[in-house]
Amino acid sequence: MARKYWEMTKKYWADMVFPIHENPIKDGVVEVAEDGTIIAIRERAEYVDHEVIKIEGGLCPGFVNTHCHMELSFMFQQIPEQTGLVDFVKHVVAIRDNFTAEEEQAAIQRANDEMWNNGIAAVGDISNDNRSFAIKKASPLRFHTFVEVFDLSPTNTENTINVGKSVFAEALKLGGQHTASITPHAPYSCTPELYRFCDERTAEEGSPILSIHNQENPEENDLFLTKTGIWSELPVAWGFPFDWFKPYGLNSLPAMCQHLSHDNQMLFVHNTFTEAQDVAWAHDHFSNVYWATCANANIFIENNTPNYDKLLNAGAILTIGTDSLASNWQLCVLSELKAIKARFPHLKTADLLQWATLNGAKALRFEEDLGSFELGKRPGLVHISNLDGNGEMTANSVAKRVV
Ligand SMILES: [Zn+2]
Repeated sequence: MARKYWEMTKKYWADMVFPIHENPIKDGVVEVAEDGTIIAIRERAEYVDHEVIKIEGGLCPGFVNTHCHMELSFMFQQIPEQTGLVDFVKHVVAIRDNFTAEEEQAAIQRANDEMWNNGIAAVGDISNDNRSFAIKKASPLRFHTFVEVFDLSPTNTENTINVGKSVFAEALKLGGQHTASITPHAPYSCTPELYRFCDERTAEEGSPILSIHNQENPEENDLFLTKTGIWSELPVAWGFPFDWFKPYGLNSLPAMCQHLSHDNQMLFVHNTFTEAQDVAWAHDHFSNVYWATCANANIFIENNTPNYDKLLNAGAILTIGTDSLASNWQLCVLSELKAIKARFPHLKTADLLQWATLNGAKALRFEEDLGSFELGKRPGLVHISNLDGNGEMTANSVAKRVV
């Protein structure tokens, strides 16, 4: 006899269910089809006659990691902690050619598997070349590949654009549900000509998502305000003519925004030294803006984090990124939330989980399938252990994929 649909579904009963699109449900049940589609979310009392699988702790949708560099995974445990961004970049440049292609591939595969097991469903992954693409193509994770370009000098722009276009063409071949866009690296590493190229693509291709490293250290603003500080010295030290750069008398974010039109969907990453006026400027200027935070990477590099209260008060929609294993101890979204909550304990778990799921899904345009337990989505189910009596995560909480 054919099984009835409710015999084919699985029902997970947790102390606290975090649907994200609505309030948490104490003693909630998530019912999923065999392919992971959400069939129902209800209270336990409505399932007394059903076979349910008990989960101690919480259940939430799969996480969206909006900022990673999977291709740098081979730098795990290679770079000293808390030396500041400039020394960090120097270390990356010094060791990036020290590993074989096999070592790099093995590290990327481990990073991919770690993210999946930690409950991550989708990744906004920065790529400078194609070395991670075979692993992405075979992965259960869904990727938006940000093909990152930077030029530092107008003499490099043409070559940068050609390389970017060719990596982008390969990223499109990932196919499936994967997506891609070409994106500028950071305000201090791109010329106006390169922004113009990105902006013209926006007009041609209907607003691809741009993801820009933003205000990760205080010297970035110094460059744009007065052309002083380390970011005015480094290009010269690296052999690039830098006379072309003229200070704007503005913070880096409003200065850079002058080169990008309103229609771009922006994902600003790090925002460690972003002020309320920068957020207001971005919201005035762009149609759609998200703010990714990578707390553990900021702590690893600078022992600092953004002031989340300030960003939230300014109306920022926050998302979570892990950044790369060059600057993190793991690729785990829950570890990012725990780091944030350790410094901002008044932030509620349900709100942090929204940053980690639905906000990120919207930032990568994956919200049709991912980011919440809305019926019909297939977001994955993640178990969060060791909640306290109020359903808040604790320092001992661990995330593991259930579905
Ligand atoms: Zn990054």
